[in-house]
Amino acid sequence: MPQTRRSYLPPARRRSRRRVPVRWFIAAIVLIAVVYLVAGSCAAGDKKKNNANTATAHATAVAPAVPSSRAAVGPAGGSPRPGSTPGASFAPASPTPQATCAPADLLRLVDKDHALPSDYVPPDLVNVEPKDASPGSATVVQMRREADDALHRMLEQARTQNIFFLAQSAYRSYEYQNQVYAQEVSSVGQAQADRESARPGHSEHQLGLAVDFTTRALDFDLNQSFAATPEGRWLAQHAAEFGFVLSYPEGKEADTGYEYEPWHYRYIGVPAAQQFVPSGQTLNQWLATRQIGCGA
Ligand SMILES: [Zn+2]
Repeated sequence: MPQTRRSYLPPARRRSRRRVPVRWFIAAIVLIAVVYLVAGSCAAGDKKKNNANTATAHATAVAPAVPSSRAAVGPAGGSPRPGSTPGASFAPASPTPQATCAPADLLRLVDKDHALPSDYVPPDLVNVEPKDASPGSATVVQMRREADDALHRMLEQARTQNIFFLAQSAYRSYEYQNQVYAQEVSSVGQAQADRESARPGHSEHQLGLAVDFTTRALDFDLNQSFAATPEGRWLAQHAAEFGFVLSYPEGKEADTGYEYEPWHYRYIGVPAAQQFVPSGQTLNQWLATRQIGCGA
């Protein structure tokens, strides 16, 4: 998908990232410290909200959203948030050592320890309808046919309730991941790059089953404040009804290997989603128990 390459990142985001001066970073750290001091006496019920606000500050003031063209575009944060695991690091082996479902299986596990073949391209990619795609994605958004059908039904249902979100990015080729990861490493160093983006072959986006959502209120950006928007809340509540589940939940970085990404959903189909949601596991943990005998 050569044309997907350059374009996933809205130009504005690339520019803004380069422009953030060091003094702003320092100012943001000071601001965050003040927020924590002030919030320290808040009731426990507010703490989560405060943390979310802090995360937003990271995303907007510190390091605007690392683009992410990545499988996981992190909120670009600098320092870890409370509840996350600082330095949760992985040394992914590739390719996958264990038995896994075929790449085209809806339940194929892809995480930091389980890669897709570099030459895997989903067999039935289709273009997401323009009305379902974000204007922030400078290129055609593609998903596998079944996932796109579900995506379209979900967006239509949301629209009937005056909830409007759009697909910012979906399928990403191995070559594209390779470019983005290399760019991230040179920009923020390997340790932080590994918290925010997937190494080539380790992105759920290569499956053609993962999609990043955004909304106009966020100026079609991807950051953690999406969780608090009506659109983010609607998705958290209803996505599984359409077969989509959250891959990187809050406070689970040690399990998933990625920072909280309220915008990144993976399609696994409705029956699987209904089993997964009550499991209490992260998606990669749950899928790991289903990699043998897939498709049988
Ligand atoms: Zn994503």
